[in-house]
Amino acid sequence: MTLGAGVIRSQLRMADGRKIRYYDSTAATRTASDQRPEEPQPPIGEMRLDLLTNEWIAIAAHRQGRIFLPPKELCPLCPTTGDLLSEIPDSSYEVVVFDNRFPSLKNPESSWHLPEANGLVTEIPSAAGICEVVCFTADHGSSFGQLEPQQIRTVVEAWRDRTRELSNLDFVEQIFPFENRGEEIGVTLAHPHGQIYAYSFLPPRTEKMLRVATEYFAENNRVLLDDIIAREINDEVRIIAKNEHWIAYVPFAARYPFEIHVAPLVGVPDLATLSDDAADAFPTIAKEVLQRLDGVFGIPMAYIAAWHQAPVKQGRDVLRLHWQITSVRRAPGKLKYLAGSESAMGAFIMDMKPEQSATQLREVVLT
Ligand SMILES: [Zn+2]
Repeated sequence: MTLGAGVIRSQLRMADGRKIRYYDSTAATRTASDQRPEEPQPPIGEMRLDLLTNEWIAIAAHRQGRIFLPPKELCPLCPTTGDLLSEIPDSSYEVVVFDNRFPSLKNPESSWHLPEANGLVTEIPSAAGICEVVCFTADHGSSFGQLEPQQIRTVVEAWRDRTRELSNLDFVEQIFPFENRGEEIGVTLAHPHGQIYAYSFLPPRTEKMLRVATEYFAENNRVLLDDIIAREINDEVRIIAKNEHWIAYVPFAARYPFEIHVAPLVGVPDLATLSDDAADAFPTIAKEVLQRLDGVFGIPMAYIAAWHQAPVKQGRDVLRLHWQITSVRRAPGKLKYLAGSESAMGAFIMDMKPEQSATQLREVVLT
């Protein structure tokens, strides 16, 4: 199957039935079969409603057995070699996406539906959703920001393909591609990779952003993120990178020492609806932003890179795609921990002005 930018997708099954998809920028034959013994699939977890906040909590008790920071020769995300039978059966790859072996959310039975909140007797549904792993490169020692632009473009095409396909599943409400980078924030595999969660409910942050953007639209007949970007362009001081199709800025009310939002100048609901031109222009700004982030202290920065998309079934006229990068590092050797105010109350305290971190990011000399 040929996607945008000429990327070719080949879909296969792993020994235990999970799907794996190869995304190639040039023609490649992907037929290698998974030689590992078939393993039983973990059971689906459950979801409980936190009545105090009306938020769903997914409980996946089977995830304790996950492999933690294995050495390179045991890396499950490297290509398969003679000695190593990894998650990727082929001996090479460009970009692959496969079903997570330890998913917090799983494909549910066909009759699944999200129960209505009903106080203390609210039903406990199974933890419906999809969890996928996105390997950005076969090169174990690389990082997303170090990839060639062509390679990042292929990753973008994989994200778009997954967003499109997962949007078609009845039980899916929200699709969330993201990357955790750095042991500081709990990464368990060093290999450059991200994940995609397809939720069967609206996550709290999406729900809140949807409510706010809907109210804003009702009052102003304008899309909130469009106006926010217009202010950033007008203020200039928090912009750290820009090209013909994208803008990157430290948000006006950043909540982390280093927080960057990257948004297309022409707003779209999600990656699936992003224009080819904007997709083509993403790798350069992504590389610049991540180089600036790593350049601030001259060390690889731990970060969370999160794609906020409009939900699949609602709010598509008011919520807009953007990429949010947050880093908890505030100085070499110093991390911002989410402590009492942030963790217990959700009230963020920043000890640095967003304009100051924007200046630091802008002053990084790119190599
Ligand atoms: Zn690896």
